[in-house]
Parts: sequence; structure tokens; C-alpha cells
Amino acid sequence: MTKDESFDWVERECGACQACCQVMGIHELGKPEQQRCPHQCKKGCGIYEERPGSCQAYRCRWLHGDPNLVQRDRPDRLGVIFDNHSALQGELQGLKYIVAREVRPGAFKGKRAARWMRALEEDRILVWVNFAGDNKVTGPVELLKELDKRQAAAEAEAEDSAPE
Ligand code: SF4
Ligand code: SF4
Repeated sequence: MTKDESFDWVERECGACQACCQVMGIHELGKPEQQRCPHQCKKGCGIYEERPGSCQAYRCRWLHGDPNLVQRDRPDRLGVIFDNHSALQGELQGLKYIVAREVRPGAFKGKRAARWMRALEEDRILVWVNFAGDNKVTGPVELLKELDKRQAAAEAEAEDSAPE
């Protein structure tokens, strides 16, 4: 999924998926995370032409067209939304990570989602799993230990530089 970003991206449409409308918080609407948007309807978004900027801007990695995520990995089916912008770009204390938003709690442990977890582990990428604002970082044990070490060092440095 992540090693080679030079693949051919696939043209996709959201279709019947409305996973991000449920999962994402939309500040313009005062809509919290993990709450159905009042504008969701059978055909998709009831205010599509006038939908808020946050909605217009958001494209998950599946929609963006990562060919490693196949049709059945569409977020409403997979139960997990991989953010696109964070892929290979995010750094947590200098370590690479990707954001995975659970559509249902525990979905990340599902069979196919777990497959992605293994692929990310092989690529040595941490996964920031989010469900309703509850975040946890997961990944290979040695990377998690390294993250703890770097976080502790950063905290110690912040304490040292704090005014007396
Ligand atoms: S989660 Fe992705 S595929 Fe589903 S509606 Fe949102 S952008 Fe479209
Ligand atoms: S306004 Fe439309 S696109 Fe935005 S969250 Fe609601 S239903 Fe989805």
C-alpha cells in the first residue's frame, strides 16, 4: 500500500459510501465525529452543491485511487477510512504514520483491515487509529518503543527549556 507511490491511481467515485459523512466532524455544521450528518440522504448528500468546504476538500485514500485498496476496501465495506493526506507524509516524532479512522469500533481488527495492518507493519509505518476522537497508535513493537523513547526525550527537553 505504501512503499511505492509511483503506481497508476484508479478513477473512483464514492457511490453508496457515506462513511466519512458519519465519521468526520464537520466544524461548519457543528457536527461531531461519529454522528450521522443531518444532510445524509438516500442519494448521498442532500446539499451537495452547497456542502461545506471541509466536505468538498475531503478525499479518502480509497477515493483518491490507491490501486492497492480494491473495490471491496471502500470504507463503508472495510469499516476503516485511510486518510489520504497523511499517507507517507505524516511524521510522529520523526516516524512515518498514517491515519486510519474506524467507521465502527474495532473495525481495524477485521480480516481485511488486519491485512492492511500487516502490510503497513512490513513497510514500517505506524498507524494512528481514530474512533470518535479516541486515538491510539499501533504498529511494530520496536517502532512503538522508539516512539515512546522519542516522546519521553521531547517532553524532557520541553521541561528543561521551560522558564523557572
Ligand atoms: S469515505 Fe471515501 S469513498 Fe466514502 S464517501 Fe467519504 S470520500 Fe467517498
Ligand atoms: S454536508 Fe453532505 S457531504 Fe458533508 S457530511 Fe453532510 S452529507 Fe456528507
